[in-house]
Amino acid sequence: MSTLPIPASSGFAAFQLQASLQAAIDALGFHSPTPVQEQVIPQALAGKDLLVSSQTGSGKTAAFLIPLLQRLLSSRNSAMRLPSGPSILVLSPTRELAQQVADDAIDLLKGSRGVRVATVVGGLPYGKQLQALRGADLVVATPGRLLDLYRTRKIRLDQVVHVVVDEADRMLDLGFAEDLQAIALASAQREQTLMFSATFAPRIMQLAEKLTKDPIRIAITALNQPKPDISELIHLADHESHRIKLLEHYLSDSSVDQAVIFARTQVECEQLGEKLTAQGLSVTYLHGALPQSVRTRRLNAFREKRVQWLVATDVAARGLDVPSISHVINLGLPMKPEDYVHRIGRTARAGRSGVAVTMVEVSDMRKLRAIERVIERRLENSVIPGLEPKVRPLVRNAGKPSTRPPSRSRPQSFGQSDREFPRTERPAIAKPRSEGWQDRSSVAKPRRLESAETRSQPSRGSGFAGFASKPGSRSDASPRAGQSRWAGKRVNSRA
Ligand code: AMP
Repeated sequence: MSTLPIPASSGFAAFQLQASLQAAIDALGFHSPTPVQEQVIPQALAGKDLLVSSQTGSGKTAAFLIPLLQRLLSSRNSAMRLPSGPSILVLSPTRELAQQVADDAIDLLKGSRGVRVATVVGGLPYGKQLQALRGADLVVATPGRLLDLYRTRKIRLDQVVHVVVDEADRMLDLGFAEDLQAIALASAQREQTLMFSATFAPRIMQLAEKLTKDPIRIAITALNQPKPDISELIHLADHESHRIKLLEHYLSDSSVDQAVIFARTQVECEQLGEKLTAQGLSVTYLHGALPQSVRTRRLNAFREKRVQWLVATDVAARGLDVPSISHVINLGLPMKPEDYVHRIGRTARAGRSGVAVTMVEVSDMRKLRAIERVIERRLENSVIPGLEPKVRPLVRNAGKPSTRPPSRSRPQSFGQSDREFPRTERPAIAKPRSEGWQDRSSVAKPRRLESAETRSQPSRGSGFAGFASKPGSRSDASPRAGQSRWAGKRVNSRA
């Protein structure tokens, strides 16, 4: 099933875009606008300020780029000259997202001559960025470095006409509120501001009040709307080594095309990345403390499918748009419940389906419930035969055989109320909870996983030593040779 819409009869033609822009959209294979594009493009073309909430993967980047590039292209036709400052400024919370947006803009500008795009992000040398800024019409920037350049008079913002604040909620999380206001002041002459956010929480509304003028609110999807193409699997884990066994299972799953493994900390990210690399997996790792040049190189290696696995912290939770990510594996739960939605949104992109695996230890139960409150639904526990959890405080029937006939081809799943009862109080039969959660004691059916499970037994013996293991214990530690087309494809993750 696709997350993208069934083609609308009008397609993009209704927007009467410049021929070169329309041709680029066609070349990208965008036959019809997604819901967010349908609503945003006409209003943005009309010059309105907008406050948009839309889910990750909804096509929101093109929703703001297409109308703003259209306006830029149509105005440039009459006055061709090199600008002394950008007319479009897109603000992104992270360097990775900024790069992704700039890449999308470049794709949309293929065939449009003379429009320049520059990226301004921290952690990279100034020289190249300053060079790219010369004559740039569209600048995609993270707030800190942009302000730095503005304050040292390396960039002018007095010609900015359109400002986009992308992922405003994330901006606030990262403490960019003041920087955003300073940038808004520096570009006070702008005619239009578009703000995108996952939610319309009060703090977002306060920011919108400061940055926008009478914005039109467009709410496309809420965080609590499940993406039907993602099979979400929750694996209860007893302890660290159980998590590693669960991870090991997926590492040897040949249905994984590409996968992101979210580590809980930078240290865990680094240790796991190193460990898997040492074991010959096609892996790289990414976290915020690495130099930007390294982050970019590694991300590109992953984007270009030169590596199969990316171990990352939440720095990769947003903006990573790689259609071949078939699996997202959460080694633990994110600090902020919303980030669960962003993380799993890395898979099932561009009309594909995906699997999101989350390992939950007892100490994570509170976080799991917070996530369930955000997404307004329960997440099913799934068990990989042979890797069932043993310790189950507050778990009603985990470890018992599923009520369904045993199947080795699929992870088994326990009723949703499983986590609700201490062992001493647990009722004999799983029942739906009174507040209306369905008792979905069903078997989770990740599409790709089925075939993998049929093929492989739980990979206890596959030899992945895990990142907690001692050095030197890895002689037989590689996943089964020849199991995946990535096997043996060794990449220097520090490249
Ligand atoms: P975004 O929400 O901006 O991260 O976009 C998610 C994915 O959808 C990206 O891979 C886009 O290239 C793709 N996309 C955006 N608009 C369309 C469209 N109209 N038709 C098909 N794919 C699209």
